Amino acid sequence: MSQAIHPAPKGFAGPNTITKSRYEDDYSESVEHPEAFWARMAQRIDWMRFPTKIKDVSFREEDFRIRWFEDGELNVSVNCIDRHLEKHGDKTALLFEADDPDAPDESRHVSYHALHGMVCRLANALRGLGVGKGDRVTLYLPMIPEAAVAMLACARIGAVHSVVFGGFSPDALAGRIADCGSKLVITADEALRGGRRVPLKANVDEALKRPGTNCVETVLVVKRTGAPVPMQMPRDRWYETVVAGQPETCEPERMNAEDPLFILYTSGSTGKPKGVLHTTGGYITYASLTHECVFDLREDDVYWCTADVGWVTGHSYVVYGPLANAATTLMFEGVPNYPDTGRFWQVCDKHKVTIFYTAPTAIRALMREGDAPVRKHSRHSLRLLGTVGEPINPEAWEWYYKVVGDSRCPIVDTWWQTETGGILIAPLPQATPQKPGSAGEPFYGVRPALVDAEGRLLDGPADGNLVLLDSWPGQMRTVFGDHQRFIDTYFKTYPGMYFTGDGCRRDEDGYYWITGRVDDVINVSGHRLGTAEVESALVAHPKVAEAAVVGCPHEIKGQGIYAFVTLNAGEPATDDLRAELVGWVRKEIGPIASPDHLQWAPGLPKTRSGKIMRRILRKIAEDAPDQLGDTSTLADPGVVESLVRERLNRT
Ligand code: ATP
Ligand code: MG
Repeated sequence: MSQAIHPAPKGFAGPNTITKSRYEDDYSESVEHPEAFWARMAQRIDWMRFPTKIKDVSFREEDFRIRWFEDGELNVSVNCIDRHLEKHGDKTALLFEADDPDAPDESRHVSYHALHGMVCRLANALRGLGVGKGDRVTLYLPMIPEAAVAMLACARIGAVHSVVFGGFSPDALAGRIADCGSKLVITADEALRGGRRVPLKANVDEALKRPGTNCVETVLVVKRTGAPVPMQMPRDRWYETVVAGQPETCEPERMNAEDPLFILYTSGSTGKPKGVLHTTGGYITYASLTHECVFDLREDDVYWCTADVGWVTGHSYVVYGPLANAATTLMFEGVPNYPDTGRFWQVCDKHKVTIFYTAPTAIRALMREGDAPVRKHSRHSLRLLGTVGEPINPEAWEWYYKVVGDSRCPIVDTWWQTETGGILIAPLPQATPQKPGSAGEPFYGVRPALVDAEGRLLDGPADGNLVLLDSWPGQMRTVFGDHQRFIDTYFKTYPGMYFTGDGCRRDEDGYYWITGRVDDVINVSGHRLGTAEVESALVAHPKVAEAAVVGCPHEIKGQGIYAFVTLNAGEPATDDLRAELVGWVRKEIGPIASPDHLQWAPGLPKTRSGKIMRRILRKIAEDAPDQLGDTSTLADPGVVESLVRERLNRT
């Protein structure tokens, strides 16, 4: 692993930037006196009734409970909009950048004042359609302002939203509608992504023919492209018509801190997606605090997180965190490579983006295209970069740092999960010098620990399974409709602890390095190898764009190493290169890590959020393609078919 350490560049810190000593003091207080610390942090939120009970948690099965601020009352939409109106009413809340850069009239600036009107009108309309506190609403929308408006309108009336990524199929959508019993669906005629049209409304029509979806009474349709779509009366209603004429104010529902805010299904990289439920008070406190501290947020920042609202990152760090902090948050409808691979940087220049947050999959894909598309744009406004979703290979980190950030911008590598609601481990840009590939140190209130297979706590520098010893306010509260599954999944493996499912190494400085999913850790002749480590070695080779490594049965070693490798654009795949790569890994990590099989992969199976699905590659490596499991969240099923066909060493 890379040994480089990057302290924040001189002159980075602003007046409120968190220093090392402030981080250390606050962190100590947060774990030693969590009640006092979180009572203080709760003051960042506008409560209708300030909580007197701060924390009530037990991770033991006998008396299991997770409650934060339990007698507090508040409304999340008020915290994201109303309270900013006096000082920031004219400030841009949502900066919308449309898919097509040549259609400038499609891009919009939505001020806090305008957002308030839009949210209130929709909230009134929803109430008029019989939606109330506790009812579920499914959102199946493009990355347009109406997506954020719909989330906030649900929050205003206490309805529980479930956002389903607009790239999902009718079957995946139907499953999620049925699972939570949605009363209403909000969609659009079509979505635009990379110049292509996605028939959202037609997909909803298909989904609603599936069993279990007759809970849906109403479908609201936003006009995005204006394409003609069949409307089925009285079920289907135009969004524009329904909100027109609604009052511009709307009485917010008084919500208890522990009332549900939303349900969101996980990405499905390890199995069937789980309906993660988040509640109100703890979630918004945690999302806003982490957003302010980790991104070192300042008054005039233009903040851009490229995640879709269909993922938790889009919830906490496109919508809720930034808006609760009165920030300007950019919503991007398009994709990184349309109309060309310089699009991200063109948008950064156009809107003078200061904070940019994306995923390793996007960084690797852009790195593959070389430096020229980046250098073509100035990127002068950028001052901080972030990454989330998978371990970032040090090679990709360095490229992001040097080429995208011109060695001027700290990088926050943020580790967290749908289940955690917000960032749990990340370097604070000024307080924690960054090590490429490491997520750094725990955030306030977070108590990570490493355990061995028997659940024994490991001290000091160690390699093990990542657990959390105590709760934090943004923690999920249950799996919707299946509380026992929640306890079984996260609290049974190591009783009394939250098990993350991730493998991790802690170094001598106390930095955490995620080594991959525990299920993916490979055991070669008794040596534990993290997939991330072998993949990073492969990606460090100048001809390799991306790599995924899994274990495969091996007669002598127990498990062998099976590597899938994607080469840089235009690089020929030869047997000589294969031998060279095997030798390269052997040299970089050691003979124990040298791959037994190395298969060329024109593409890798990924979730729609861009994570490599190693569980599918494992089945290919085991030659068990009939056991691929749930593939509903796969971005491109065609990739899997070709990898199955080309599998090596078939007996
Ligand atoms: P499922 O739980 O359905 O299998 P998933 O785990 O991919 O899906 P998410 O909640 O979107 O669903 O992803 C969380 C996981 O992503 C983490 O457990 C971790 O493995 C990985 N991850 C996220 N951020 C980072 C990061 N900065 N470094 C390393 N890994 C990360
Ligand atoms: Mg997970």
